[in-house]
Amino acid sequence: MRSRGRTTRQRKAVTRALAGCQDFVSAQELYALLLAGDHAIGLTTVYRALRELEADGGVDVVRDETGGRLYRLRPADGHRHYLMCRDCGRSRPVDSGAVEEWASRIAADTGFAAVEHTVELTGVCADCLPGADACRLSGAEGEEPSCHWDRAPDSPGRVRSCAS
Ligand SMILES: [Zn+2]
Ligand SMILES: [Zn+2]
Repeated sequence: MRSRGRTTRQRKAVTRALAGCQDFVSAQELYALLLAGDHAIGLTTVYRALRELEADGGVDVVRDETGGRLYRLRPADGHRHYLMCRDCGRSRPVDSGAVEEWASRIAADTGFAAVEHTVELTGVCADCLPGADACRLSGAEGEEPSCHWDRAPDSPGRVRSCAS
């Protein structure tokens, strides 16, 4: 993280708490974590710190199924796109080279500067998928089921992972 003049102690505390989270968290969850860690901080301050981090590009933001914002500290090597499970909220980074190329081509074609994009992918992870266990058991005994991603033809857009 770059440090800036207006970086407050509270914003640092929020950043540290975010750094300890593997997955996307809501402002409320972060607030609870900070309180549990003995930080005297208000929910409003957490919201403000997150807004600042978002404006500075310090966090990636996705929406949960009710439209609430979820935050995760952005990796040092730039922004990422994630596939998030709508059931349990777990997320994993996904390859987004095609999106990045498309976005920069649009910027070049239109002459727009400072073009930004937000791409959110959500689905149901292997653990939350009904029948996930049956899928695992279908492999030969003692054999690790192969990890694969595909789209079921009868449910367009649904990404399925048998195992990981
Ligand atoms: Zn899940
Ligand atoms: Zn991108």
